[in-house]
Amino acid sequence: MPESISTELVELRKRTERFASDVLIPNQAALAAGRADSASVRSSVTRAAREAGFFAMTQPRSFGGSEAGLLATTVVRDTLASYNTGLDDDVFGHGPGVLAGCAEPLQSLYLQPLLNGAKRAGFAFTEPDDAAHYTRAVPGADGGFVVSGRKSYVTRGGDADFLNTLVEVEGQGRALLVMDVNAPGVTIEQRFESLDGSHHAAFRFDAVRVPADRLIGRPGEGLPRALRQIGDTRLAIAAEAVGLARWAINFTRAHLQAPHHSGEPLGAREGVRLRYADLRIRTFAARSMVYRTARLGEAGANIVNEGIACKVYATETVGEVVDTAIQLVGGKALTVGHPLERLYREVRALRIAEGASDVLRLNLARGSLDLDKGVL
Ligand SMILES: Cc1cc2nc3c(=O)[nH]c(=O)nc-3n(C[C@H](O)[C@H](O)[C@H](O)COP(=O)(O)OP(=O)(O)OC[C@H]3O[C@@H](n4cnc5c(N)ncnc54)[C@H](O)[C@@H]3O)c2cc1C
Repeated sequence: MPESISTELVELRKRTERFASDVLIPNQAALAAGRADSASVRSSVTRAAREAGFFAMTQPRSFGGSEAGLLATTVVRDTLASYNTGLDDDVFGHGPGVLAGCAEPLQSLYLQPLLNGAKRAGFAFTEPDDAAHYTRAVPGADGGFVVSGRKSYVTRGGDADFLNTLVEVEGQGRALLVMDVNAPGVTIEQRFESLDGSHHAAFRFDAVRVPADRLIGRPGEGLPRALRQIGDTRLAIAAEAVGLARWAINFTRAHLQAPHHSGEPLGAREGVRLRYADLRIRTFAARSMVYRTARLGEAGANIVNEGIACKVYATETVGEVVDTAIQLVGGKALTVGHPLERLYREVRALRIAEGASDVLRLNLARGSLDLDKGVL
């Protein structure tokens, strides 16, 4: 096994498998059959995840969470994804994200309600392609800020109570400001859904007044803080990608062993076997990288480069695996509603969200060639 994990983590994996079989699969079936709507399925998954102890794994101990290590969360993400139910997002509680370690009043006004589910946050980082300038904050007379500009692609922004927004503070560099979505001057310009089924919003800010105590950290720290938050999600995405790849391989395996209209199972054909072997080799390599990186991170190593490598490799691998799986399963895999059809759309987004593959490659090259950093 690529992960070579402790007996405690093997136990955790078994517990996760039971949770997937007993909670996620029946909820997925209820949703598919129209016996339950998306909102009730999501809240039932979250309720069960709280009871089973998964919800608190991503939350700090100081706020009542169990703050599991990187290996444990990797095991759970990989295992949940290997069931391909599309419901994994509702299993873990919201982590602190860029609000980690923030002071009062941010802690009681935003962090605590975010962690206990009373408030929802959006991460406003991406500028629209046609933005005239970066979202600006001008220091106001009262010590606060006046923000103008636009942000796009804020995931679940349409349901958010507040936005953690990256802005350029005049003369002081980038900063992260917490902005209430119902503050005067904040407008949702557009709500949209992407190919993978996730929902987003584009915002406009017209001279929005933001009090001084809504600044996270200091001006000039915004970009590194935002990038650290994005960096922390990369291994999580990679773990999910390898789990999904394993689901696609198992699905393909069953198909290749089943009777086929040609008279013999497709898996008997050498050409098909070659393609199938490649799926397993690539996924084994990606999964090995993910577990090794989790182990390094847990031991306290700086895994920025390894996290980038895992995100690029695992998301590109799952893209190829699902594409080949569809090719081998044939036309019915493209039928709308087929699990491979949904997965094809879902995994495409992973190569762009939280850092487009080529942009991450450039970061890796810069670290090595220009800064002589990292051990990759
Ligand atoms: C599902 C999903 C969820 C998202 N959620 C959020 C969110 O919650 N908050 C948020 O702020 N954003 C979010 N985004 C936006 C995401 O962060 C951006 O789409 C991503 O960072 C790429 O930026 P862009 O779309 O502006 O593309 P661009 O930056 O324009 O890049 C497009 C392409 O151009 C090429 N390219 C870009 N720069 C370079 C370069 N320097 N050198 C060479 N090639 C380059 C690459 O091929 C790249 O893929 C989400 C996106 C998706 C798909």
